[in-house]
Amino acid sequence: MRSETAEINRCAEKVLAGERLEAAEALALYRHAPTHLLGRLADGVRARKHPEGIVSYIIDRNVNYTNVCVAKCNFCAFYRDVGSAEGYVLAFDEIFKKIEETIAVGGVQLLLQGGHNPDLPLGWYEDLFRAIKTRYRDFRLHALSPPEIMHISRLSRLTVTDVVARLIAAGLDSIPGGGAEILVDRVRRLLHCYSKATSDEWLDVMRVAHRAGLRTTATMMYGSVELDEERLEHLLRLRELQDETGGFTAFIAWSYQPAHTELAGVEATGVEYLRTLALARIVLDNFDNLQASWVTQGGKVGQLSLAFGANDMGSVMIEENVVRAAGASYCMDEVEIVRNVEDAGFLPKRRNMHYQILGDPIYRERQVPRMLSLATARTDDDTSVPAELAGYPARSRAGKQARTS
Ligand code: SF4
Repeated sequence: MRSETAEINRCAEKVLAGERLEAAEALALYRHAPTHLLGRLADGVRARKHPEGIVSYIIDRNVNYTNVCVAKCNFCAFYRDVGSAEGYVLAFDEIFKKIEETIAVGGVQLLLQGGHNPDLPLGWYEDLFRAIKTRYRDFRLHALSPPEIMHISRLSRLTVTDVVARLIAAGLDSIPGGGAEILVDRVRRLLHCYSKATSDEWLDVMRVAHRAGLRTTATMMYGSVELDEERLEHLLRLRELQDETGGFTAFIAWSYQPAHTELAGVEATGVEYLRTLALARIVLDNFDNLQASWVTQGGKVGQLSLAFGANDMGSVMIEENVVRAAGASYCMDEVEIVRNVEDAGFLPKRRNMHYQILGDPIYRERQVPRMLSLATARTDDDTSVPAELAGYPARSRAGKQARTS
């Protein structure tokens, strides 16, 4: 016991001195340090990186362009099979309308992600991106996580490098770090997400994107089947790639949401979230920003995250579909985010995708309607099929039939 305490104290001294922890040291801290010590160490790292006490957030919209997916991850409650009556693809016009609603409340980007739909070829994404950039020149596209890029690469038989180059030419500004789950292949096999992208493939897409000049985020979905060591390995692999490219802007951890999933199980507790966040802040010493995941944790734990290493409240998030499908449904508009940030003793500022500060809360500059619930991709009774889909070749049998009928 005494030697364990001595080891914790030695590791804590290293963190306080700004030194990098080895894997065994980080694991010892995570497993044995009291929660208040982990929080104090993580908060110290945050304060060194953000001494001005600013907590940032972005106004954007999380749009899922399709829920049709062939990957079938067993932790996912969002996807529908090819040919399902509940499957949808958003029309370009629907996406334009969502962008206009986002711009109206001060939004600056779309976080655009979706299922691995075999009936959406690369040309569909290119045409959509070009149309968005033609209509809304300064609006940014934070779109297509690494597994989606892998899927498009396989579907189009082009290399990831070529797909990324073509998407950038069409208007892609940044890649979200979704689909990372845990970057350990044993875990990915258990989660049925190994075939959508292995750990190396996920990291390679990010490497290609960073080399092509894009900044991206990194994520972790913890609390499903992984061991503590694997959670840590995930962080170390991200740290290694960040040492190599410096292309990650931020890290976001969220807990596995078990409701309505094939994998089922129970959700990690709030303390586990805060300890994991603090571990990430300590280990990811080369990441500037850590987001608070209030979407999965709720506003109150989201606010506490600011004492456990987070310096960013993520997105005001006008729309959300994926976490909601798994049972969690938290909503905070800009007024509520600002209230939580200020009450925690920080200075709230709006930012862009590169974490550059844009200004003070927009509702203090002009009148913006309160948003007390999140929009969804579509209403349940809307089963319309976009007319423009007929112009793109389908790969699945159901897709081919739909386009000839
Ligand atoms: S997590 Fe993504 S890739 Fe996996 S089944 Fe859900 S939509 Fe498909």
